Amino acid sequence: MDEKIAPHLEELTRALGDLEKTGIRAEFYKLLAFRVSPEVAKETILRKFGGKRKILKVKDLSASLKNFEITGRILDMGEKALRPQEGVQDGPSKLYTGILADETGSVMFSSWKELPGSIGDVINIKNAYTRLWQNRIRLSIGEQSLVSGVSDSSLPGLSELSKTPLKKLIEIGSADFSVSTTACVLQLSHREVPVRGKQSKVISGVLADETARLPFTAWVELPGIDIGSIIRIEGAQIRMFRGMPSINFISSTRISPVPAEEAEKLAFTFESSSKDPSPIKIEEIASRDSMFDVVTAGNIVSVRPGSGIISRCPECSRVIQKSNCRVHGRVEGIRDMRIKAVLDDGTGAMSVMFPRELAEIIYGKTLEEAEQLMFSDISKDAVYEDLRRFLTGRYLAVRGNSSNGEYGASFVAENAWVPEDDLAVRVVELLRRLGPDEGEQSSEVSREGISFA
Ligand SMILES: [Zn+2]
Repeated sequence: MDEKIAPHLEELTRALGDLEKTGIRAEFYKLLAFRVSPEVAKETILRKFGGKRKILKVKDLSASLKNFEITGRILDMGEKALRPQEGVQDGPSKLYTGILADETGSVMFSSWKELPGSIGDVINIKNAYTRLWQNRIRLSIGEQSLVSGVSDSSLPGLSELSKTPLKKLIEIGSADFSVSTTACVLQLSHREVPVRGKQSKVISGVLADETARLPFTAWVELPGIDIGSIIRIEGAQIRMFRGMPSINFISSTRISPVPAEEAEKLAFTFESSSKDPSPIKIEEIASRDSMFDVVTAGNIVSVRPGSGIISRCPECSRVIQKSNCRVHGRVEGIRDMRIKAVLDDGTGAMSVMFPRELAEIIYGKTLEEAEQLMFSDISKDAVYEDLRRFLTGRYLAVRGNSSNGEYGASFVAENAWVPEDDLAVRVVELLRRLGPDEGEQSSEVSREGISFA
């Protein structure tokens, strides 16, 4: 059931913002309790609450948003002449690009039309959209967008907005153009990668503060900085990497060690930030665009088709059907095993991918043993059916990365285990939820009851 709900909740979040604060989540479940289908419930709510325009701030931006309104100050702008396209008579001849900022952050933009303002001016854009371009999110102003100048804006001035905002790691979003932060280096490794035919040195690793962890990449040397260093980073750029923001140190980024007496005043230390992350609710994971290295736990409510033994192309590792890779044609497939399951903790649901090493652990069978089952059974779905029987209803903790897409939250597990120690806590929690004072939320309780049954 939650598999069907998650994408609708996500769409509502995109269209209407925080579903908790506005009470829209409760409204949605109320409709479901009246046996309204999730699609109809979503449409009803959009009609009721979405009649208003969708007004977003820079921090709300993610890839592939459409038809929203945004107001910001132009921090930078340039124009580029476009080569006229063959056969196109009246196409745009110039592309305007720059940076737009509000009090929540700054984002790159591109516009096909001349804007009613220049650097320092505030503009309002209706019917804007976003695009992912070179791994960065761009605010796009197209032919259909309406742009107007705003003369009496309460937005901070140019000099204040031009300062790169100091953010905690959890506040860094994939649309952020440039950020500053203070964090601890948790992991760090050097490697050489080919860039335009030349071997280039790159440092990559993980940063942490008291709020979150994020991956980073440095295309510059980091003298004196190692695992355990607490550093101040100014003017780092954000790029998307595997669906989540990654902090990039470029030549203009200033990186300096935080002196010991200042580091003492921070809310984190190397010791505290290198501890295993504490479990969080799926609801929180599902409400964010992406989360890096988090832990959660829930019941497996379904095992998705496509789980079990699969074949991969030896060239590109894509999953192949009938020995045919859609890029490399006919190939000798390599067998692999994976599990895609829906995990539900009563606050939300998400799809979790378990790669082979984890699939073997949680299923309790190796790839070879699963193959035996496949060969000994006439049904070609023998392994999938066996997985379903074995895993449905099981309580599991997972650690890994999540990203939110068209189909709701999806999580790639890097570790998974059965959390025995909190069984008592879960029972108390369940009893509390079923308690008499919770009568008003009976629809919530019965829904949660399914996953704890
Ligand atoms: Zn291939």
